[in-house]
Amino acid sequence: MTTTAPRLLQVRRSERITPRMIRVTLGGEELAGFAGEGPDRRIKMFFPVPGQERPAVPRAASGGPVWPVGEARPAIRTYTVRRFDAGAGELDVDFVLHGDGPAAAWAADAAPGSWVGVSEPGGRYEPDPTADFHVVIGDETALPAVATVLDALPGGVPALVFLEVVDATEQQDLGTPVRWVHRGDRDAGVPLAEAVRAAEFPPGRGQAWLSGESACVKDLRAHLLDERGMARRAVYATGYWRAR
Ligand SMILES: Cc1cc2nc3c(=O)[nH]c(=O)nc-3n(C[C@H](O)[C@H](O)[C@H](O)COP(=O)(O)OP(=O)(O)OC[C@H]3O[C@@H](n4cnc5c(N)ncnc54)[C@H](O)[C@@H]3O)c2cc1C
Repeated sequence: MTTTAPRLLQVRRSERITPRMIRVTLGGEELAGFAGEGPDRRIKMFFPVPGQERPAVPRAASGGPVWPVGEARPAIRTYTVRRFDAGAGELDVDFVLHGDGPAAAWAADAAPGSWVGVSEPGGRYEPDPTADFHVVIGDETALPAVATVLDALPGGVPALVFLEVVDATEQQDLGTPVRWVHRGDRDAGVPLAEAVRAAEFPPGRGQAWLSGESACVKDLRAHLLDERGMARRAVYATGYWRAR
C-alpha cells in the first residue's frame, strides 16, 4: 500500500472572523490536485513544534509512511476544509481560539509564510436527496463543516440547524436560518442538547449530521436514534473534541 504524503503549504493571510475564530488561508505549489470540494471534507494538519520552521512530515512509501529520522514529530489535529478554490490556489481553514493546544496556538500566531502540513481530505457524508427533512447540529468547532453541509443540502426540504456558540458575537451568516444556542458560562454541549430535545421535528424520514463536544454528540446521537426513531444509517455523528 502506498500512502500519500501530506502537502507542505504556507500561510497566505489570516483574518479574525469573530472574536474566537480565525480564518487561515493556505496556498503553495503542493496544493495542486487537492480534492477539497464537497461537504464536510476533513484534513489532518501537521503543526511544527517549537523551534521548527516547517513541520516534519512523513514521506509516502509502500508499506506505510516513513518519517524523517532525527526530527521532532509534529502535533497532528483534524480540521475542516472551509473553502477550497482550485483557481486561486487557496484553502481556508477556520480555527476556534479555545485557549491551550498546539493547533489553536499555531493559528493565533500564523503569519504569511508560516508552514503547515495538510493530508488528503476525507469524509463520507453525503446529503440524502430522498430525506423528508435534515437536522444539522454542532458547536463552533463544527461551524465550518456545518457551512459546507448547508451548501450541499437539497433546496425545498426543511433543514433544522442548531449551533451552540458562547454568545452572539460568535454567530456567522450561513445563508440559512440557524437556531443559535448561547452557551454563556454553562458546560459545552449542555445547552445544545437541551435545545435539540425541546425542538419539534417535521414529520417523515429525516437525515442528521452532528458534531461537537464528544459527550454531547454521544448523548444526542442516542436521542436521535432512540427517542426520535431515526435510522442508524441516517445519523452521521462525529465527536470533534473532548471537554476535560
Ligand atoms: C473531523 C473533525 C473536524 C474538525 N474541524 C474543526 C474546525 O474546522 N475548526 C476547529 O476549530 N476545530 C475543528 N475540529 C476540532 C479540533 O480538532 C479540536 O478542537 C482539537 O482538539 C484542537 O487542537 P488543539 O491543539 O488546539 O488543542 P488540544 O491539544 O487537542 O487540546 C488542548 C485542550 O483544549 C481543550 N479543547 C480542545 N478543543 C476545544 C474547544 N473547541 N473548546 C474548548 N476546549 C477545547 C481540550 O479538551 C484540551 O484540554 C475538528 C475535529 C474533527 C474530529
